[in-house]
Amino acid sequence: MTLPENLKPSTRAIWGAEAGPFWERATQVPVALSVSFQYETVDEMMDVVLGKAPGHIYARNTNPTVTVLEQKMVGLERGAEACTSFSTGMGGISNTLLTFLKPGDRCVSIADTYGGTAKLFLEYLPRLNIECVLCDTTDEDQILAEIGKGCTVLYLESPTNPTLKITDLAKLAAAGQKVGATVVVDNTFASPLNQSPLLLGADLVLHSCTKYLNGHSDCTGGVVLGAEELVRQIYHYREIHGPTLDPMSAYLIIRGLKTLDLRINQHNANAMAIADYLVTSPLVEEVFYPGLPDHVRHDVAAKQMSGFGGMVSFTVRDLETAKKFCQNLNLAYNAASLGHVESLVSLPMTSSHVECTAEERRRLGIDEGLIRYSTGIEDAGDLIADIEQALEKSQ
Ligand code: PLP
Repeated sequence: MTLPENLKPSTRAIWGAEAGPFWERATQVPVALSVSFQYETVDEMMDVVLGKAPGHIYARNTNPTVTVLEQKMVGLERGAEACTSFSTGMGGISNTLLTFLKPGDRCVSIADTYGGTAKLFLEYLPRLNIECVLCDTTDEDQILAEIGKGCTVLYLESPTNPTLKITDLAKLAAAGQKVGATVVVDNTFASPLNQSPLLLGADLVLHSCTKYLNGHSDCTGGVVLGAEELVRQIYHYREIHGPTLDPMSAYLIIRGLKTLDLRINQHNANAMAIADYLVTSPLVEEVFYPGLPDHVRHDVAAKQMSGFGGMVSFTVRDLETAKKFCQNLNLAYNAASLGHVESLVSLPMTSSHVECTAEERRRLGIDEGLIRYSTGIEDAGDLIADIEQALEKSQ
């Protein structure tokens, strides 16, 4: 089968990299649970080892199921030439940073990156004599000034976790390119269907596949996409350091991707409806959602996102009320993670940011009564009714 050009994302998510024919003419991508791959002759195998012929040698390097996922992702993340994958999102983030940063280098980022990423910047990279400058995410002038001083890597995330701050990716990426930085964007919160950082000037885009890409909360994974030459370097670092994606997880992500377009549309619509409801509730103090017209950077979000995503955060009176709210929901797991078909709720104060001091949380805008709600793909009316009853019961 030959795929026509210019297919829409919903079609590419289903047919991309699946032109087969697969083993025994299966219509679904087979899970190749094989560590090694055999060849008739030593010369034939040598050609594959040297990259002169296509094929697979050893599962830490490449695997046919994993390759289908990587090729499918190239069709979904606009502007990508190549993709390499990892056992977790953090595997992708740490391996990407360590591919490009060496002792003496400088990395500029923001204070509101995902907690695991922030740990790399605050604890592990400085041990290697890599200077990490974490700017106030809301202070664009400070970020531009720090980029202007020069950096090897500029690392960005938008929208951020959990307060949904927005950074102007095109403006910051242009500043990064000017000083010769490799510009990396974690696009996990937006998904490839809501935001295309490579088209906004980034060099590399990362996703935790554990979230929207798989969408069903049954495996972990990560991907990094960008120009062929950059991705080749990251692949080489990963094949030596080892956090390879396993074929069963690759299959589960491939299966999840087939409904990505449907799911993202529903996540976007549900989150918008929930945010619109929350701003009207007298029991809610503040709502954070980039799709709301009075979000401080709604204009930037509207410029760089085609949908505002499935994450909504809001504050209630205090920690006790927030705890009761989580326990009173009937249609959301009180659990970690995000981007799954089921709605999830968590309190940043007692989960992602539990290790921060009160002062650090204050600087990040993480109030004791802050609730992070990951909308699932259930009916919006059912979710709003559930939130309404939980808010009332929590008073
Ligand atoms: N990036 C973001 C924005 C995340 O929210 C997470 C996890 O929550 C990660 C990266 C790390 O992904 P993983 O848990 O798959 O390592």
